[in-house]
Amino acid sequence: MTTTDALIAAAEAHSAHTYHPLPVVVASADGAWMTDVEGRRYLDLLAGYSALNFGHGNRRLIEAAKAQLERVTLTSRAFHHDRFAAFCAELAELCGMEMVLPMNTGAEAVESAVKTARKWGYRVKGVPAEMAKIVVAGGNFHGRTTTIISFSTDPEARADFGPYTPGFAIVPYGDLTAMRETMTENTVAVLLEPIQGESGVIVPPPGYLPAVRELTRERNVLFIADEIQSGLGRTGRTFACEHERVVPDVYVLGKALGGGIVPVSAVVSSAEVLGVFRPGEHGSTFGGNPLACAVALEVIAMLRSGEYQARAAELGEHLHRELAALAGTGRVSQVRGRGLWAGVDIHPRYGTAREVSEKLMDRGVLVKDTHGSTIRIAPPLVIGKEDLDWGLVQLRGVLGV
Ligand code: PLP
Repeated sequence: MTTTDALIAAAEAHSAHTYHPLPVVVASADGAWMTDVEGRRYLDLLAGYSALNFGHGNRRLIEAAKAQLERVTLTSRAFHHDRFAAFCAELAELCGMEMVLPMNTGAEAVESAVKTARKWGYRVKGVPAEMAKIVVAGGNFHGRTTTIISFSTDPEARADFGPYTPGFAIVPYGDLTAMRETMTENTVAVLLEPIQGESGVIVPPPGYLPAVRELTRERNVLFIADEIQSGLGRTGRTFACEHERVVPDVYVLGKALGGGIVPVSAVVSSAEVLGVFRPGEHGSTFGGNPLACAVALEVIAMLRSGEYQARAAELGEHLHRELAALAGTGRVSQVRGRGLWAGVDIHPRYGTAREVSEKLMDRGVLVKDTHGSTIRIAPPLVIGKEDLDWGLVQLRGVLGV
């Protein structure tokens, strides 16, 4: 038995089977490359579902983390610590907002945004107790907690996890009329991914996000943009909403905010919205811890330079040109996306997305399938053009072009 097989068998025996990983066991990584326990190298075209926008082992982030590790890593929020104010102020500034509610994982931040919207609805908007409704989109992915899966439309994500949390209305993604008709005076928020990631990198029709912005403003409803996967450089801008010149009321951030080193997430909004909380009403032992703040501060500084967004825009244009050419061959039925982010639907005649992912793995490229026929391409934004091109050559090879 190879080391790979032994480690996979042990993982299968002792971990809950909530994932179906590709049969590769990574031992180290650097930039856009990973090395497995057998010494084989792979180009990472997934980037930890966009948590690794700045690449593996990014020196600036590692140095920031190391320096903080030697000072203080955790205080809990029972005390102040000396990185907290800067983290909140700088993240708020990056978002053009005023206040930050720090959490750890994406799902926690979405839960926190739901709680924020409900409390804002009762305290500020004047919605009667227990009546608050949040409008979400079909095909959404916002995380795995019981409340969040309550408004998922994915049967796999929901089955056998009920009873479900009430208070959500689901409308088709991209359908403004349905959203308008669903809203009532008790609607407190619309929660959307500006590009749906897990659904297969679905870009809404042009004009949809601005129309949602207008409608929510008109009805005194919060527009919550879940930019956990789409934000922080991935699409060629700091936020995917920027492509449509939309500024939501609330950003939900995660993944790349922790630089691929620590889980860091946040709800970012105005003082009117996040000002609704009082001590004791919400919290997290690890949320906003010194190590998280130190790494996130470096992430924010890197994003301030605009260098990563520019790189994602430029390389992204190249990626989408290449993928459009591939679509022209008929091997791929559709390509969607923005910046260094693409959902590629494999024509069923050329295999399932899982089969394509496995064949790519054999050629030294790692991607992940979703929904049967789609592979997602989301490399670290630091990937070299030659490496990206090499990865695309492998994809062409697998599809027999
Ligand atoms: N929201 C979006 C848009 C996501 O893509 C994800 C994860 O893929 C989440 C929320 C949940 O984040 P986490 O897995 O950190 O809980």
